[in-house]
Amino acid sequence: MAKAWLSLGANIGDPPAQLADAIARLGAHPHIAVTRQSSVIRTAPWGKTDQPDFANMAAEVETALSPVDLLHVCLDIERDMGRVRHEVWGPRLIDIDIIAYERIEMQTGRLTLPHPHAHERDFVLSPLGEISPATADWIRALHD
Ligand code: ADP
Ligand code: MG
Repeated sequence: MAKAWLSLGANIGDPPAQLADAIARLGAHPHIAVTRQSSVIRTAPWGKTDQPDFANMAAEVETALSPVDLLHVCLDIERDMGRVRHEVWGPRLIDIDIIAYERIEMQTGRLTLPHPHAHERDFVLSPLGEISPATADWIRALHD
């Protein structure tokens, strides 16, 4: 089993309820166990600022899935929950990103690990620091 850390965010609909729904769906997967959850924080939008505030949180999972298979589960849950991609960094019902998977560093067209923007986003690092300070420190150190 591998450990991975996810960042979840939502800013339309009922954001805290969608975060809880996404966590429940992840945990219902036969090859994923949700082992830790951060608190839910409210954050001002990043990148595209004229949209509602976000609710963000981090979760630690244990999984038998490969990084790419875990990504596909996350994207399937986003789709099943009704996410439609209109614009980059635009409003979303649910966003589930893989922040890190063990200490793997990789970059392909589909998946970059650790997440390429994690180190510059407090709404990612702060919840991650609650559940895995060592992983948050590792990501910061990669960009020092
Ligand atoms: P963002 O999360 O940056 O707002 P999207 O959720 O629309 O944007 O994701 C766009 C694409 O980013 C996904 O389809 C996925 O292939 C790619 N991607 C690359 N690295 C990661 C990662 N670590 N976690 C999640 N998605 C990633
Ligand atoms: Mg995403």
